[in-house]
Amino acid sequence: MSSPNAESTAFRSALEVIRAVEPRVADAIGAELADQRESLKLIASENYASPATLLAMGNWFSDKYAEGTVGRRFYAGCQNVDTVEALAAEHARELFGASHAYVQPHSGIDANLVAFWAILADRVESPALKRAQVRQVNDLTEEDWFALRRELGDQRMLGMSLDAGGHLTHGFRPNISGKMFDQRSYGTDPATGLIDYDRVAEAAREFRPLILVAGYSAYPRKVNFRIMREIADSVGATFMVDMAHFAGLVAGKVFTGDFDPVPHAHIVTTTTHKSLRGPRGGMVLCGPELADQVDRGCPMVLGGPLPHVMAAKAVALAEARRPDFADYAQRIVDNAQALAEGLLGRGATLVTGGTDNHLVLIDVSGYGLTGRQAEQALLDSGIVTNRNAVPQDPNGAWYTSGIRIGTPALTTRGLGAAEMDATAELIHTVLSQTTPGSNADGTPSKAKYVLDPALADKVSRQATDLLSTHPLYPSVTLT
Ligand code: PLP
Repeated sequence: MSSPNAESTAFRSALEVIRAVEPRVADAIGAELADQRESLKLIASENYASPATLLAMGNWFSDKYAEGTVGRRFYAGCQNVDTVEALAAEHARELFGASHAYVQPHSGIDANLVAFWAILADRVESPALKRAQVRQVNDLTEEDWFALRRELGDQRMLGMSLDAGGHLTHGFRPNISGKMFDQRSYGTDPATGLIDYDRVAEAAREFRPLILVAGYSAYPRKVNFRIMREIADSVGATFMVDMAHFAGLVAGKVFTGDFDPVPHAHIVTTTTHKSLRGPRGGMVLCGPELADQVDRGCPMVLGGPLPHVMAAKAVALAEARRPDFADYAQRIVDNAQALAEGLLGRGATLVTGGTDNHLVLIDVSGYGLTGRQAEQALLDSGIVTNRNAVPQDPNGAWYTSGIRIGTPALTTRGLGAAEMDATAELIHTVLSQTTPGSNADGTPSKAKYVLDPALADKVSRQATDLLSTHPLYPSVTLT
């Protein structure tokens, strides 16, 4: 462990150097820390990376081009980048028990693109090259190349529907994946809100996808990856899991056996900045069959790797391999369950009635509100959440009927079950005291709301009090 003094000095010195060039940037960085310190951050996809992880990003690695892979670069002078990329990959392999790790993706979207194109290369391009008896695409005739491009664009993907908690990058039209694939979705059982594996199997049999995707950003339960793999195998699909949200729970061995995606999936993608608590970035894990195709991510779909972020990934993954990370991961789930119980006990409606993971999805229609109204009213009261669709949401993806809350960030700050109950009380107070507003013409609004500013102020102060016992980055003082 570094000394608190060293951490303070490092950040203070960095700000002094930045301030000499553009003081407004230094001020904004300082203001961001102050804002984060004061807000009750319940955004399920955010966290607080360690000082070591943050500091690993601000250095000379940022200046380096390093296309290629460890030991096989298209640029000279990459020996130090090789060191950090190899370290990050080694930590990832060891942490997750994967045979191959590719740590270059710049984000979760990029990790998914790498995975999709690795699968397409393996399942569509390679057989086409073999049929044409050539080694690479440049050797195909114009006619064969045209046919291959059409075949690549004519593949199917089956993933979780957006309103059930799936992610835009799993084949939805606003994202490139929806333009690449013919996509169908599986939803959840309307009665329980849970994945109905028989229905997934039925959809897979009917649709016969090339890729079956599991993973979510707003499903509050575990997924049985063993069953999903069996479904994929039964239709010859490649099974991909996007564990962007719950990678920290896999790393911390909260999700094991059937609920650990790594032994069951052909390929696993993740972000590194959510429950895993690393720098903003992505990563792909796979077995030897897909490793070569995955390693072609840059320049296939990625720009040059970000060596400074790979350095930070190596630091964060080293942290996640320590025994205390398993304790952290378990506390994330304990806290989410305490929050869920606190809300249920006060009369809130939760999608699926609770949680097995790091997130809770409140159906705020029970309070007579849209997600948009609830999100803003909570924000006015110092509670940062985000609105999210609920299954079969009547308010669509913009206004929504849900509020998604997650515990990775507050758990990093050290809050526990008692504070989760207090947080549930604050959320319930705000939502039960907020009423829908109306438009200028008197019609009901899905965005406007009425909340007594005095109550919002009071809750804000209570939220700050709650946080004051668990200061964020206690080792860092900027003044
Ligand atoms: N996959 C899932 C399941 C996500 O929840 C997200 C982000 O919210 C992503 C991918 C995309 O991650 P990024 O924002 O890093 O591109």
